[in-house]
Amino acid sequence: MNCVAFIGLGNMGAGMAARQGLAGRRVKAFDLSSAAMERAKLAGLETCESAGAAVSGADVVVTMLPAGPHVRRVYEEHVLPHASPSALLVDCSTIDVDTARAVAGMASEAGFRFADAPVSGGTAAAEAGTLAFMVGCSEEAFPDVEAALSPMARVVIRAGEHGAGQAAKICNNMLLGVSMIGVCEAFALAERLGLAPDRFFEIASKSSGQCWSLTAYAPWPGVGPQTPADRNYEGGFASAMMLKDLKLAQEAAARSGAATPLAGQAAAIYALFDRLGYGGRDFSAILQLLRGDLDGLQS
Ligand code: NAD
Repeated sequence: MNCVAFIGLGNMGAGMAARQGLAGRRVKAFDLSSAAMERAKLAGLETCESAGAAVSGADVVVTMLPAGPHVRRVYEEHVLPHASPSALLVDCSTIDVDTARAVAGMASEAGFRFADAPVSGGTAAAEAGTLAFMVGCSEEAFPDVEAALSPMARVVIRAGEHGAGQAAKICNNMLLGVSMIGVCEAFALAERLGLAPDRFFEIASKSSGQCWSLTAYAPWPGVGPQTPADRNYEGGFASAMMLKDLKLAQEAAARSGAATPLAGQAAAIYALFDRLGYGGRDFSAILQLLRGDLDGLQS
């Protein structure tokens, strides 16, 4: 586990790769974005000229990419052709279950051990090394996967075989998308009813409305702990990413016959927000759409 290749150094990957470095591991990093590579260099990571060069000779290969097509391409073109036969391959991106299983199949056919290991916790947890990982892999591979992820993790839970990590992640984020809109609607109504947002936060966070979207990620600026709301909804978990996850959930629900009507509404609301041009803002910015006050988001 001494040498970790890390591909994808964006909002999440930057902090995660840095945690591997802080644990004393050699980190060979690569991202298509030169700005991300500059940040990685400043964090003391070894930047490589290509994904293949990063992967070559590494004991563990971690990918943290936007979506399924990116993961498939990086695996086909760089990871599988260049990784050492003994390398452990771990994809931490949030992608659809079918692609996760297809990539696992390609990796297994080529003789590699593979895990889908998406994360929960956001950028603050990525930087602090306190992410929750939900893992799809064989029972035999799990101890090594856990050891590989430990510098970045608060908890690592095996969900089942390949694809099960992504299934758990999609269900979790569907719940998150719905609960964040619920919290935002409650703040918007509280405002209309003349309640001070900080009073409402204090009461609801100690009452039955309490949930993570409220207490750990309050969407109202200046209320609760520091969140993306306090920096004009920059950084954090982009609304476009939440829309991606809700679409994955809708597709999975359609295929499996599960009833998910509230998640369908949530997907439509995030799609509208995205179409209005706010896909790059944190997903808690949906509060400003519901308040009918998008002006503050313009700058
Ligand atoms: P991001 O867009 O900030 O980062 C993705 C990075 O991948 C970018 O820097 C991009 O340049 C790089 N990239 C794309 N294609 C590449 C390629 N072919 N080779 C090398 N690099 C490439 O996204 P993020 O917020 O870091 O999210 C990454 C993944 O984690 C997503 O699947 C997302 O759904 C998931 N996730 C995000 C959060 C969050 O709070 N941001 C939380 C949990 C899970």
